[in-house]
Amino acid sequence: MALLKTDSQVGLPRAREAFHRYIGSILGLALCGVTLQDHRGEALHPTAYRLRCRDSHSASDYGLGESVPLSRLQQVPEDLVGESLTALLDLTIPENAKVPLFSADWVMADGSTGGTWDHTPDLSGDFTFSYPLPPAEEQAGSHIYLVSLLKIVLDEVDLLANDEVVNPAAVMTESGFFPLTVRPLAQPHPLAERTENAKAAIRRQPLFSVSQTEPTIPILARHWSLLASLLRFSKKGEDTEPEGFRLRRTADWVVPSHGHPSEVYEHLARVCNVACSFCYLFGNPDTLAIARAKKSIARDELDTRMTYYRPQERRALFSAQWELNEFLVDPRLPEVMRDLRETTDRPFFFTTNGNPLTPRIVEQLAEVKPVHFVVSTNTVDEPLRQEVMKERPNRTWTALHCLQELRRHEIPFGVSLVATPDFPLADLTRTIETVSELDPNFIRVNEPGFTRDHPSPMDFDTDVLWGSVIEWTQSMREKTHVPIIAIPSAYEENFFYDDPLAARVIGTIPGSPAAVCGLRPGDVVVGVGYLRPSTRSEVVSALMLVKGKVKLRIRRAGQSLELTLDTELMPKYPYTGPYIGKYIVPHGVVTAPSISSGDARGIAQQIEEVGARHSWLVTSSLMLPAARAFIERSVAEHADGIDFVVATNDYLGGNIRVMDMCTVGDIHGALVRHQEKTGRTPELILVPATGFNAHGRDLVGRHWGDLERAWNIPVRLLGHTTQFVF
Ligand code: SF4
Repeated sequence: MALLKTDSQVGLPRAREAFHRYIGSILGLALCGVTLQDHRGEALHPTAYRLRCRDSHSASDYGLGESVPLSRLQQVPEDLVGESLTALLDLTIPENAKVPLFSADWVMADGSTGGTWDHTPDLSGDFTFSYPLPPAEEQAGSHIYLVSLLKIVLDEVDLLANDEVVNPAAVMTESGFFPLTVRPLAQPHPLAERTENAKAAIRRQPLFSVSQTEPTIPILARHWSLLASLLRFSKKGEDTEPEGFRLRRTADWVVPSHGHPSEVYEHLARVCNVACSFCYLFGNPDTLAIARAKKSIARDELDTRMTYYRPQERRALFSAQWELNEFLVDPRLPEVMRDLRETTDRPFFFTTNGNPLTPRIVEQLAEVKPVHFVVSTNTVDEPLRQEVMKERPNRTWTALHCLQELRRHEIPFGVSLVATPDFPLADLTRTIETVSELDPNFIRVNEPGFTRDHPSPMDFDTDVLWGSVIEWTQSMREKTHVPIIAIPSAYEENFFYDDPLAARVIGTIPGSPAAVCGLRPGDVVVGVGYLRPSTRSEVVSALMLVKGKVKLRIRRAGQSLELTLDTELMPKYPYTGPYIGKYIVPHGVVTAPSISSGDARGIAQQIEEVGARHSWLVTSSLMLPAARAFIERSVAEHADGIDFVVATNDYLGGNIRVMDMCTVGDIHGALVRHQEKTGRTPELILVPATGFNAHGRDLVGRHWGDLERAWNIPVRLLGHTTQFVF
């Protein structure tokens, strides 16, 4: 059996082998006897395909992006529909009212052809992953059935010729010429509306749960919808209609993963047990590609996920994306954590509102260390917390006392606060003073944000409030030994200092070598040992490399100073090393995220490969100052040929202003506006990767490559190399 390179050491089958079998068949059928054309009308001759992904990193980590030769059929089969149905039935079983149609008859609506299938029921005992059918996208007359199907599968595959992506704009068949136009970029995926999505969750898994994280499954769903509009089905002579489908063999959906235990425990409870007035979940648009649910995960789903969780082989069952939740409320938590600890020694990293953390639960979690928490404390004022978070009094008591319990058991934790007007700065000051005594390893102050759809848009001027929060945060850093990070950190770094790329120290983790060496908030690191890094990311890279006693050159209040960092000092609680979950704090030095020198190389390389004289670099209003400084300093040779295009969060609306939450539609809108303003069209569009997951999907499940298909200009994703993600 063919092996993926990344799997060759462990001899695993190729990732998504069954789906590749399906796609190979469908492309073989759809491309047989047709001619593809690009937007100029020139014939395309793809020889291979690949599953779409974000970039080469995600391709190798998640088993995507492998180039697979296309096997072309010599002759158009007589029964195209039947052949494609067979390929679909290899992976799925249709359902009517959740009853699986293991066997049934089918016939074309015009009666021209038909057939039957008969499958053996699955006896594995695995949880049944079943999904509804999405609304039919278009009526598929039999003569354009394969064109419609091709449009669907092109949402998940790129066609390749000579290892380059080719974008077909039209297909010529015996029946005529059919455009393969990209669905309007601002239009979310036609999988379902949010309300249908929530209803579907009661009986089946919503398609929104996988449209970002396993977009192969919505392809199968859309194929079933297409067939349902074209065929008539019957079982034992009675008409029946597929309403959904189930995955035929769970094992087909064991995919490459990071092997982190969160791949199991994040599927625990799917609810939060409070209702904060500022919670962004209430403002999620209906078309967001994240499932909303009302209940906990089913026991058999959890068991099945445990069964297929193989951290040593870096494999797990495909993941599903649900709204963030308070999974610590799940009563199975201690048992699940114990089971997981037997399979992996990697840290458990939990974000919680704190109220499930009774002394007993903390004690049980202490037995499965390493564990790390971020606790959304928000305030230490009990009545205020109850009012703003709509929390029952006994739960508030637990939430506020859990920090002492975590401290007592030496479980490291960070504290999260939201600087909404509900929590006045005087209250936040008291909260920071109180929690600092318990040695959290950081305190996160979130600037209040809300989307257009939030039920109670907050009545404040964002810049005035955010600015006052930054000034207050800076003053608080002088009063505590705990690093206080303002989120989004780009706001502070880009609008409150002259050099947005400087290695400014936010703070040091208590108990770390950096805390001992005397670094203070506001210090700017300009030298690490004999290295003279010039940007924040270079300083972070240098700090990750050094060992032993190292001289740090810093600037403090206009003075140059030298400090000695002893990287071999024994770490003390709460410092446990350079990684806190996905965060990197080398030797306990906390700085803001930054663009890396790898990004500079990537930008120059892309421009040179394409030979572009005019490139557009998409950024956000928050990152614009850093992006400008970075290009001028690190990509100076190309700076004159780069325009900055500022994307706005039109999809989410409200006061959101970060690139990570921009959709493909938002980026497209910004490009159109820039084109109208300048009257020019670029030769290359550069887009930061940060808003796209490993599958290259945005918040609504749209792949970034659709920009290139719509603009017919090379679009390149900038590396996913930001070193800090606070
Ligand atoms: S604790 Fe978090 S998830 Fe729960 S309601 Fe509050 S903000 Fe939302």
